Amino acid sequence: MEKKSKKKIGAHVSATGGVENAPENAHAIGATAFALFTRNQRQWRSAPLSAKSIALFKERCAKYGYEAGDILPHDSYLINLGHPEAEGLEKSRAAFLDEMQRCEQLGLDRLNFHPGSHLKAMTEEACLTRIAESINWTLEQTTGVTAVIENTAGQGTNLGYTFEQLAYIINKVEDKTRVGVCLDTAHTLAAGYEIRTEEGFRDTFAKFDAVVGFQYLRGMHLNDSKKELATRVDRHDSVGKGVMGMKMFELLMNDARFDGIPLILETPDESLWAEEIKLLYSLEK
Ligand SMILES: [Zn+2]
Ligand SMILES: [Zn+2]
Repeated sequence: MEKKSKKKIGAHVSATGGVENAPENAHAIGATAFALFTRNQRQWRSAPLSAKSIALFKERCAKYGYEAGDILPHDSYLINLGHPEAEGLEKSRAAFLDEMQRCEQLGLDRLNFHPGSHLKAMTEEACLTRIAESINWTLEQTTGVTAVIENTAGQGTNLGYTFEQLAYIINKVEDKTRVGVCLDTAHTLAAGYEIRTEEGFRDTFAKFDAVVGFQYLRGMHLNDSKKELATRVDRHDSVGKGVMGMKMFELLMNDARFDGIPLILETPDESLWAEEIKLLYSLEK
């Protein structure tokens, strides 16, 4: 009998035409997890989810066996929860609250977001504190959805590129049961963490465990990287086609600390996703 994998692997699939299309798109590529945008990620305003969309989304997730814990929605790229100016901050917080409420409506339990950028107008510490305040403000007005902070490559003035910065934010979040972390493998490498060798992988995740803690890990983005270690540039590549090599994927697929959480491909060629999922599963020993 075939051994059942404990790994949940999928991709950030399209929700074009409605969120209810995302579970269909995920199922079509053989995914056991998926990510999606619940609204247009390039606009500030989006129409509310219709009752029909919500019902169909839930029905299809049930049909294909996707549970809330297998789904990692991603927020809009426009949102900056650490915005140095009042207007930008207010706009970002309102949009983030809307994203959280959409998750509530869809029965989802986590929302993945990039922490924020100081835009050279405030110190890193002040910006990280502001991000935590934005999270607190949002969590107070919602229930059941965890704010999942993604580590970044540290491009431009984006924060969240060190484990210490992630820990700093978490430390200032009041409800620790509703804050978590998503690590993007391409961002981790570009931010300066060597994860491509057995030793590097072991040391990096030991450091993550010591500084942040695996109990906060709510998802992973499995990406190869076009950019080298410590370049601080965020460019994803398809699995096995960039500078990552296959060792990191093999180590991760055989590490129980990554069981049961959404492992999401954000690789650039979506025609390869079905193959990439199969390839990742084939690495399990
Ligand atoms: Zn992201
Ligand atoms: Zn990512």
